[in-house]
Amino acid sequence: MPMKYLLILALAVVVYMWWRNGRIAQARPRPGAAPRAGSPQDMVCCPVCSVHLPRGDAVAGGDGRLYCSQEHRLRAPGG
Ligand SMILES: [Zn+2]
Repeated sequence: MPMKYLLILALAVVVYMWWRNGRIAQARPRPGAAPRAGSPQDMVCCPVCSVHLPRGDAVAGGDGRLYCSQEHRLRAPGG
């Protein structure tokens, strides 16, 4: 029985699996290179309806607060 051929075949399979795993590990992105969490856009919360919206879309009140709309700016207490 050609036992040495089986050993060579087994060794070839092991080397192939090891090489394949190495390639998969290289293709995988590094955990440290992941993009940071959180939105880059600054979000504000309307004090009337508690909705979150970008700061650029918010309406500034007289007291410096930011509202989702002109209607809520007028509805705000003391505004
Ligand atoms: Zn609102």
